[in-house]
Amino acid sequence: MWGYSAAKGEFILWCPNCKYKTEPFDNKNAVISFWSLMNRKGDEQVLSNWIKNFKKQFPNYDQQVEAA
Ligand SMILES: [Zn+2]
Repeated sequence: MWGYSAAKGEFILWCPNCKYKTEPFDNKNAVISFWSLMNRKGDEQVLSNWIKNFKKQFPNYDQQVEAA
């Protein structure tokens, strides 16, 4: 599970298992780093799904950031 608000430019990552939710971050890498630092048991799958879904929905996101 994951959330991205294009209007606000906010990234939020949350866990459907334990309902843990991060604070909103202003970029994708920050929220991924934060989640990894939490090192929550069983949440590695949650993170990889988040990244997979994000890439599916925003296939050009990284290129857009690099071009900016
Ligand atoms: Zn969890």
